[in-house]
Amino acid sequence: MKTVIYPGTFDPITNGHIDILKKASRVFDRVILSVAEDTGKSTLFTVEEREQLCRGAVSDIANVEVMKFSGLVVNFAREVNAIAMIRGLRAISDFEYELSQALMNEKLSNRFSTIFFVPDYKYLYLSSSMIRQVISLGGSINNLLPPGVEEALRKKLNL
Ligand code: ADP
Repeated sequence: MKTVIYPGTFDPITNGHIDILKKASRVFDRVILSVAEDTGKSTLFTVEEREQLCRGAVSDIANVEVMKFSGLVVNFAREVNAIAMIRGLRAISDFEYELSQALMNEKLSNRFSTIFFVPDYKYLYLSSSMIRQVISLGGSINNLLPPGVEEALRKKLNL
């Protein structure tokens, strides 16, 4: 059974993340959407809230599970017997960061690879940070977020 992890901040999960997840779930037996506790970024949602929003969003994808993790991603991957990690590549702007992360993770664990999927073009310029900004400024977003996420954002931002 081939298990992979899909680690990220997911602050909050968007349909871009879901697109990547669905692609990975068609290739691998088990995909663990892995919500990072220590992200190096200050997050709007707590790790428990991010995890809960992810759980709600993936409930209809059969071979996907949601777990939170802390510490090095390669250590978490080892704990859950994952052979690789999935990342999404959007525009060229993602490339340099993703490449350096992938190389460092291979250095930390040399039997561990990073596999990239590209999203559908409609999600190419979608990011959690842009979503947070638009909602905080009173905008509304159609078809870019899983059900319930926009409402959770408004609640969190007291809108
Ligand atoms: P991180 O802080 O680890 O980058 P994110 O939640 O921002 O966490 O993203 C997790 C992964 O999902 C990253 O590989 C990122 O490039 C990818 N991703 C984020 N948004 C999209 C999107 N709209 N389309 C495809 N991949 C995406």
